[in-house]
Amino acid sequence: MTDNRIRKIVIVGGGTAGWIAAAGISRFFEARPIEIELIESDQIATVGVGEATIPPIRQFNAVLGIDEIEFIKATQATFKLGIEFKDWRTVGSRYFHGFGDYGPAIDGVSPHHHWRKLREAGDPTSHEAYSLATMMARAGRFRPPATDPRSIYSTYSYAFQFDAGLYARFLRGYSEKRGVVRTEGKVVDVALRPEDGFIRSVRLEGGREVEGDLFIDCSGFRGLLIEGALKTGYDDWSRWLPVNRALAVPCDGDGALEPYTTATARAAGWQWKIPLQHRTGNGYVFCDGFISEDEAASTLMVNLGGKARAGLNSLRFVTGRRRKVWNRNCVAIGLSSGFLEPLESTSIHLIQNGVGRLLEYFPDRDFDPDLAETFNRLSADEVEYIRDFLVLHYRTNQREDSEFWRYFRSIDLPDTLKGQIELFREAGKVALHTETSFMEPSWLAVYLGQGVVPASHDPRADLIPEAELSQGMRRRREAVSQAVNAAPRQAEFIARYCKAPALEGAA
Ligand code: FAD
Repeated sequence: MTDNRIRKIVIVGGGTAGWIAAAGISRFFEARPIEIELIESDQIATVGVGEATIPPIRQFNAVLGIDEIEFIKATQATFKLGIEFKDWRTVGSRYFHGFGDYGPAIDGVSPHHHWRKLREAGDPTSHEAYSLATMMARAGRFRPPATDPRSIYSTYSYAFQFDAGLYARFLRGYSEKRGVVRTEGKVVDVALRPEDGFIRSVRLEGGREVEGDLFIDCSGFRGLLIEGALKTGYDDWSRWLPVNRALAVPCDGDGALEPYTTATARAAGWQWKIPLQHRTGNGYVFCDGFISEDEAASTLMVNLGGKARAGLNSLRFVTGRRRKVWNRNCVAIGLSSGFLEPLESTSIHLIQNGVGRLLEYFPDRDFDPDLAETFNRLSADEVEYIRDFLVLHYRTNQREDSEFWRYFRSIDLPDTLKGQIELFREAGKVALHTETSFMEPSWLAVYLGQGVVPASHDPRADLIPEAELSQGMRRRREAVSQAVNAAPRQAEFIARYCKAPALEGAA
């Protein structure tokens, strides 16, 4: 029988996506080494942002066998329990999307129905009082979750906030140890096979031709292979997610070291604040149809919590996705596959899922079209689901103070989101259609935080006598509050277990 296995993989791009792909693939093929060459060019900068993540990154690290403490120290990471949204519903409002639940289902009914029932009876307690992730974050505290499901500390998860440049460097070290060869070089041409249009090789400045069986396009927004060479096409989603610019700048930390990311709504977008051990990351994501770059820059600089450590990094993008992320013998991973804006920190997550999915549907040199088709369908479902979750944040705003925020009330929603908001508003039901990222508690955080409170609760909640329910809910709140008080402040926890070394001249 002929050996039809992939012999050589060429990864174009050495940003976060390129090195995640290299690390994941080299780990997978550790027992049966395969040739992997990663080409990157020092002449073309990486986007240099991408500092906040969501909890599944911990599974990815575990699959790679990465030691968490070593990883945190190497990337100047802090822990992330969720995102605080300021001024999103109305100016002055705030809510928290924590990585955890609001208590267990009672007799099969989600806790927010019980909360809704008590609220109708006059109990003013916020739903957030039932979420340990939220309350711990607001108190600036952190401890790792418990594995014992009986412990209240098992009701949340966490992710990381880290320096994107250090993260890529860390994964580069990991990949090179596993045989990945890094080539410094600029790709100037892509040669296709005349018989089927598959990529045969890429040519570097200086003339070297790099051939391969499978090409992974991690070249960033430019999509050098997937678009430049293969003309795959792009679905533009800016009618739903119109932000198209970002200005980013690191600054000195303000000492608070919150275990969460802050997303503050501004006149034509929103501003992030991501506290790391050695500095704080900041950026203003906006739509240039509603504000000039100068105005956005001054808003960002006025609202920095510390002294700026570098000039502004200006980025442009179009929200959307590549029509096919696997086309012929090329798979696009990272920004080359599309971009949803960074509101819920999902890009690195999508990169890691893309690599995992590629390994699950790994082709041989025949490139069975069914594999590519399945890969493309699953990838499309995943990214559309996240898009809908993002659109929800904007659509449900009640701000009247700027054209940008009013715009969202007139948009025609994606079909997959249509009806969902009404369903929640009427009956408190969250209709999930995938399990890959944000589950019911995440949607609840945004619905309730944005002031979309269901008109009715699940009738099964009435089966529990009100006094009994009220007592049970109070016990949960007390348990949350005690657990918060018993957890150390994140700064103390880091100082004790995972303090990163000081970096000379860190930006
Ligand atoms: P890039 O970083 O652009 O890397 C591209 C690579 O390709 C570079 O190494 C470059 O040298 C190489 N290259 C390009 N052309 C050539 C060529 N001709 N020859 C050789 N090499 C070439 N994600 C998150 O998960 N969390 C966040 O908080 C987050 N925030 C973000 C904020 C903003 C404003 C933006 C724009 C993105 C954010 N992201 C975030 C997304 C995240 O930054 C990216 O998903 C991630 O960095 C991956 O980028 P990349 O590696 O695909 O592309």
